[in-house]
Amino acid sequence: MSLLSGKTAVITGAASGNGRAIAEAFADHGAAVVVADLQRDPRQGGTPTDELIEERGGEAVFVECDVTDYDDCVAAVEAADEFGGIDVMVNNAGIVGPQTPLVDLDLEAYRSLIEVNLDGVFHGAKAAALELVERGDGGSIINMSSVAGMVGYGGITPYSAAKGGVRLFSYALASELGPDGIRVNAIHPGVIETAMTIEDSPTVGTDEGEQLKATIPLRRFGEPSDVAGVCVFLASDLSAYVTAESIVIDGGNLNSV
Ligand code: NAD
Repeated sequence: MSLLSGKTAVITGAASGNGRAIAEAFADHGAAVVVADLQRDPRQGGTPTDELIEERGGEAVFVECDVTDYDDCVAAVEAADEFGGIDVMVNNAGIVGPQTPLVDLDLEAYRSLIEVNLDGVFHGAKAAALELVERGDGGSIINMSSVAGMVGYGGITPYSAAKGGVRLFSYALASELGPDGIRVNAIHPGVIETAMTIEDSPTVGTDEGEQLKATIPLRRFGEPSDVAGVCVFLASDLSAYVTAESIVIDGGNLNSV
């Protein structure tokens, strides 16, 4: 029996990058997957995630979902009913947003980032929690933070604020949902090779990026599959006693000199 067989996962931002890799890994381990995203086409190109999973014999459905809209998140969670109902929620959708020093940043730009990266997690977690409690069979909520949610990164204050918020939001929610057997954890990737770090906030392939890479103990940037492996663990019963926890996925960068 596979690690996630019989489970259904809803993953926001699963068209591209980390979310797509999480969806693929979950399906490979036997889960049915709801791919919830603004768009169906992967930012990096290729076959849409739901189609890819079905081609490999798995079960998946795409739902158009903007995580800034609570009703969209409710609809994504309801889409899991097609496969027997939600067991796992991954609040992954996010953007890097403004890369501007605070003194040049206006409130509107700040708020637009918070709306996606923090309010979006609130919406997804609330929609999932209501359904998981109703189902009465426990569950796992995995919230996407970042190393920027563990330490402050100058130049991206809104991003750091949102990701730090996701971290403590996860711990607080774990306290609320623990009695129902629902676990809530945060994950904190470092630089992972996705459209976000290649196009939106170019790190991969830049001189600055190469210098950073040389300081990472494992001497490479992460792949989306590195993030996905941790999510499989947190979604599965292997992590049955793990909640209100943070897992950093950064090749050892944060905790070493
Ligand atoms: P990506 O841009 O490759 O993928 C993000 C996906 O989220 C896209 O498919 C996009 O359409 C979707 N999305 C964006 N806004 C949305 C919204 N409002 N509603 C629904 N879907 C939306 O980026 P990625 O690197 O895969 O990022 C995924 C998550 O991982 C983000 O939360 C990001 O902050 C986090 N993260 C990324 C890195 C990294 O180095 N790539 C590091 C730490 C954390």
